[in-house]
Amino acid sequence: MIELNEAKDCCGCGVCVNSCPKKCIKLEEDKEGFLYPHIYLDECVNCNLCEKSCPILNHINRKENAIQSAVIVQNKNHEVIQRSTSGGAFTVIAEYVINREGVVFGVAMQDDYFVRHIAVQNKDELWKFQNSKYVQSFVGNAYSQAKDFLDSGRLVCFSGTPCQIEGLRCYLGEEYKNLILVDVVCRAVPSPGVWKKYIMMEIKKYGKIISVRFRDKTLGYQYSTMEIKNEQGRVYREGIESQPWLRMFFSGMIIRPSCAECKFRSRYRYSDFTIWDCFNVSSFDKKFDEKIGTTRMLIHTEKGKEIFKYISQNFIYKVIDAELAVKDVREMFYSPCMHTKRDMFFEEFSKCDMQELIQKYYPESLMIKIKKYLRLYLNKLGMDIIIRHLFKKDKDYINMRK
Ligand SMILES: Cc1cc2nc3c(=O)[nH]c(=O)nc-3n(C[C@H](O)[C@H](O)[C@H](O)COP(=O)(O)OP(=O)(O)OC[C@H]3O[C@@H](n4cnc5c(N)ncnc54)[C@H](O)[C@@H]3O)c2cc1C
Repeated sequence: MIELNEAKDCCGCGVCVNSCPKKCIKLEEDKEGFLYPHIYLDECVNCNLCEKSCPILNHINRKENAIQSAVIVQNKNHEVIQRSTSGGAFTVIAEYVINREGVVFGVAMQDDYFVRHIAVQNKDELWKFQNSKYVQSFVGNAYSQAKDFLDSGRLVCFSGTPCQIEGLRCYLGEEYKNLILVDVVCRAVPSPGVWKKYIMMEIKKYGKIISVRFRDKTLGYQYSTMEIKNEQGRVYREGIESQPWLRMFFSGMIIRPSCAECKFRSRYRYSDFTIWDCFNVSSFDKKFDEKIGTTRMLIHTEKGKEIFKYISQNFIYKVIDAELAVKDVREMFYSPCMHTKRDMFFEEFSKCDMQELIQKYYPESLMIKIKKYLRLYLNKLGMDIIIRHLFKKDKDYINMRK
């Protein structure tokens, strides 16, 4: 039976819940708003399937892989690229699957702002997966649903964070030829419980919210902002230096404890494709337009290579050296530090309302205001790249190369 000594030992993927034959494990929210398994001992038969299927307990150090290759890509469809986080790579992979009557699993924000894994079977719904949601997604029964589709012979694409993909591996326990795995390079995931409280605060301020984009590109890819749109069509958009949700996330205040000691940070993965940002595309090829967004992609398997051959016609792309592709990608190798005031923040989390917490921990000081207007001004002048370098922080990663 799974025993959790410390919060950092659970990534919240929920494989244990999906694997339990007695259905006696439930995910319950802790005081930080993250989900952890709770075992109802009366019904537990000590089969140990929960332990045997945990991706952290069954972690495999991935070895060097001679097949691995790397590309930088931009989706040729400009509407898709604009809605996507970086180069719109995921949509092309998903379309390949749907064209073959397959099923695509990814992360969507629902009408009640709940972030979860869902299955999509037609192209009109793929927009739901576009854009990274900076909240830990609830996997629910997506693993068992995916298995049912796989067993029935359907082509399945499953996307998620590296821990969720390793979770699926452990859940399935066998290889499937009809499964395509896509993981993202993941800095960390923020608390769903804090998100719930945060979005309620925004609704109180702005009225009913009809869309949230954590990485909006209206001001360009180099200055991505978080955008909230209300029912009246009003848009509230702010960048990382002042937007409270982004500040809480990127300063390590609301990240899951397991992310600060993530075991799955590696260049070598179980997935077929690893996708992430490429802000410095001109250092690979000056012909790429830096302003629209580019996805870097590692292809880990023969299956991935075959698929890329088919889908490459939908991209502007360039094959690059895999070593160079991962060079200086800190989030791929290092875990971010948790904020030094994180414990204090969560002590107060259940007692205070969100506005109070933000005012206390993330006030809009004069310095923040200066940064915000300076950045907007320089953005207008088209000097975003210089700004990205100026605003880059290097100290917030724990030195723990795997
Ligand atoms: C929580 C999180 C942290 C990330 N951190 C980094 C980082 O530090 N550095 C970096 O370079 N890139 C990071 N990425 C990856 C990056 O944001 C893009 O997902 C990637 O560049 C692919 O973009 P795209 O335009 O090709 O695809 P998009 O169309 O933007 O596709 C998004 C993909 O991400 C999945 N997804 C969305 N939200 C979540 C979620 N909450 N959990 C799991 N999967 C999700 C979707 O299912 C889809 O597969 C992160 C992504 C997430 C979700």
